[in-house]
Amino acid sequence: RPGNTVATASTSVEFVDVTRVFGKTTALAGFTLEIKPGELLALLGPSGCGKTTALRILAGFDNPTTGSVLVGGGDVTRIPVNKRDMGMVFQSYSLFPTMTARDNVAFGLQLRKQPATKRRQTAGELLELVGLGAHTDKYPHQLSGGQQQRVALARALAIQPRVLLLDEPLSALDAKVREQLRDEIRRIQTEVGVTTVIVTHDQEEALSMADRVAVMNAGRLEQCATPAELYARPATVFVAEFVGTMNHISGVAEDGGFVRVLGQRLQIDGAARAVGDPVKVLVRPEAVTVRAGGDWTVVGSNFRGATTRLLVSRDGEPPIRADVTVHQAADLPMGSPVTLMLADRPVLLAQ
Ligand code: ATP
Repeated sequence: RPGNTVATASTSVEFVDVTRVFGKTTALAGFTLEIKPGELLALLGPSGCGKTTALRILAGFDNPTTGSVLVGGGDVTRIPVNKRDMGMVFQSYSLFPTMTARDNVAFGLQLRKQPATKRRQTAGELLELVGLGAHTDKYPHQLSGGQQQRVALARALAIQPRVLLLDEPLSALDAKVREQLRDEIRRIQTEVGVTTVIVTHDQEEALSMADRVAVMNAGRLEQCATPAELYARPATVFVAEFVGTMNHISGVAEDGGFVRVLGQRLQIDGAARAVGDPVKVLVRPEAVTVRAGGDWTVVGSNFRGATTRLLVSRDGEPPIRADVTVHQAADLPMGSPVTLMLADRPVLLAQ
């Protein structure tokens, strides 16, 4: 268990109408986001959406063209990097190769002029916290990639940062280690209580780790919500498609906020349409039910462990994906005729 040396006071973070322009590129456009004290927030979005720019501006490596950044309610926009008390972990390991794990972790404390015994003790405690208590005297080249990232995390926490910033910290690791370290980072972050921002382009990583996920697109915030909310109630088509898998199914608008889709009449959230207008409905694979017999055909099948994702098509239309139990999939081999039913909650009407 960590002592007082490890615990941090939690701090809020705010981006207020931040815009960052690089020549002709607008990397961030009116970006506003509030991060709560102690929260683990993921910035998620496709390459080039502005995640790294937002993180760099928060760290102080870059300045907004307009707008401001608040930490703990205070404006830090003009405060230099070394005065912001941010802990950072990058994608590449960035440890000092000639220093042991313990010395790497103690390094930031040395700069802060702490006495040697205190530095050793804090570094030891932090390495214990990240599960490397038995490796304190090893050099980076004697540690695996995952272990090196644990040291980097311990080093970032050593200075008791106001905010912990993680820039794609798991991207260079293989899948198994990535998953382990994901859980570990979450555990450690909860234990330490430090407000944390992680940048990732990996939706699974964001959804599994974060308290809330800020989905970004072309320099703008699309939606910031808990993983469950993002999944169940995406605010935009972009979010609906970026988070999880979606089927696009064609339908026709009916009266009173209903649509007719796959022969069913379903109520739908979304803008009202004129009766008879063609619409597109977005439906998750798990909201599509499959029954044997009918004018659809099973054209593909992807084993996914607990479920199987069937691809089902009719008249050469693009296939609809439906998640079924492995047991059910066994009864529906390729070529089987089937019927599709939608759960009475299509996610969204495409705009
Ligand atoms: P990735 O996941 O690929 O790192 P990202 O979401 O982190 O992408 P940013 O690195 O923030 O995106 O970049 C946002 C946009 O700003 C991109 O179009 C990028 O080319 C541009 N950009 C970022 N930094 C600079 C810079 N120093 N000079 C010019 N353009 C830049």
